[in-house]
Amino acid sequence: MPKTENWQWYVEESAPTEAHHHAIENVYFSGRSDFQQVAVISTPVFGKMLILDGDTQSSQGDEKIYHETLVHPAMAGAADRSEVLILGGGEGATLREVLRHPGVKRCTMVDIDGLVVDLSKKYLPEWANGAFDEPRANVVIGDALAYMREHDERYGVIISDLTEPLEDSPSNILFNENVFRLIKSRLADGGVYVLQASTAAFNNYSLHCKMSRTLRRHYKYVTSFFTFVPAFDTDWAFLACSDTVDVAGLDPGAVDAYGKNLRGESFFYDGQTHRRLFSLPLYLRRALAADGPVF
Ligand code: SAM
Repeated sequence: MPKTENWQWYVEESAPTEAHHHAIENVYFSGRSDFQQVAVISTPVFGKMLILDGDTQSSQGDEKIYHETLVHPAMAGAADRSEVLILGGGEGATLREVLRHPGVKRCTMVDIDGLVVDLSKKYLPEWANGAFDEPRANVVIGDALAYMREHDERYGVIISDLTEPLEDSPSNILFNENVFRLIKSRLADGGVYVLQASTAAFNNYSLHCKMSRTLRRHYKYVTSFFTFVPAFDTDWAFLACSDTVDVAGLDPGAVDAYGKNLRGESFFYDGQTHRRLFSLPLYLRRALAADGPVF
């Protein structure tokens, strides 16, 4: 190992006065796509990582924590999983998790950035693990908002695996009342819409609460869940939205029965993990219940 002072560092700031330093072992790619700054690097602890606009998207070491959490509670709760839509999801790991369920007839993934998808295929094949080549995968390069406007199919599960809706991000246009209404119109009866929904850390949960507050205007059940993602160095939150399914209330036995149908072994999510994901600390429950800004 080189001495600390000889490493180059990727520094991800979570606040102007807080940062996580990752030593860089290798840079596979660093450049700009038509939509965002893209880097693929490797680090000694987390292995390969995808970074967009300076934010870690996922790491080889712990991506299963993030992707199993994003996909499976919603899939376990949905009445019908035959048609699934992924908004974003560049690396292909969300697609991989969806296709582990044999009940999925088709999974459509719409990512705006062909460069991110190509780099993922080239440098991060462990993420998709062959999912891009499955006949059940329908991978579209394009804007997810335009896709939903142009196609009126309905889906049992819609998964939003988009970048954070920051001002200059291509995902920003997908976070407003009109788009939330559009997404709901594409959800089948008994369906679940799930989104990666920013951090749940005590010092940084305002965006998550804003998403939850807005979505509660649209759905009967909007439940927050979160887990620590080591590569993000923070608690990462998600929202499951439905008019019929209270995903938080799924019985751990039913989750385990669902898990038995999945291809291959899970790394993180099962009935017991489900309980932990949906068991929120008091400060977060208070923040979610409080009034505040909406989209
Ligand atoms: N795990 C991630 C995180 O922490 O933010 C999200 C992963 S995934 C790589 C995010 C993807 O959303 C990117 O590949 C990006 O190209 C895609 N994206 C952003 N805006 C989009 C849009 N308007 N339509 C489709 N895909 C979009």
